[in-house]
Amino acid sequence: MGILDFLLGIGRPARAATQKVQVLVGPYDGPKEQDVCPYCFERLAKRPGRRTTCPHCGRPIVVRSRPEGSERVSLLCTEEQAARIDAYWEGEGITHVVGESFHQDNLLRIAGGKRRDGVRMATLAELRTEPNNRFDPNAVVVEIAGLPVGHLSREDAAGYAPALRHIQQGLGITVECRAFIRGGWYRSRADQGSFGVELFLPAPADLASAAEGQPDE
Ligand SMILES: [Zn+2]
Repeated sequence: MGILDFLLGIGRPARAATQKVQVLVGPYDGPKEQDVCPYCFERLAKRPGRRTTCPHCGRPIVVRSRPEGSERVSLLCTEEQAARIDAYWEGEGITHVVGESFHQDNLLRIAGGKRRDGVRMATLAELRTEPNNRFDPNAVVVEIAGLPVGHLSREDAAGYAPALRHIQQGLGITVECRAFIRGGWYRSRADQGSFGVELFLPAPADLASAAEGQPDE
């Protein structure tokens, strides 16, 4: 992600080639392990270990950690970004995928196996409406790396399907969002956990405007 993407919180891949739009909300903002001010992007003489004031712009720099892969990385944040990271750690702003139990083999492949203490793998998920779904005309399937991993809950799907249909059928693109694969611990055959998937999505109305706001090539 470039600086502009970081500012907007929205990344734009080569849309003509992939017909995908990334709607990136959630706790991830900011370049990691960089000694630059998150406001003015001026380089800092010394990476601060705790809250400090930027010597260039005078604004408060906050230090937080965010999950990445199966570990945490330290991040210099604005106060607003820090609040979003805090909210993540408190479990806010997360959309829980359902039906992962039917796709454990796919999740095992994507996560590359189970681990003793489980995984917390940051990735991107694609949302796709399923107009021919027998059980729910609003069904939205969630795919990671081209493999289905579950669905939005019936309630979430009812909220997001109109916006997703508009983006998918009206604009001809699919939406990609940030996701976590979690769970998958393994201590013994009798003591192991299945994988689950969490998504970070803006409100349905914001989803459509974020997709439409992507500048054309
Ligand atoms: Zn600054």
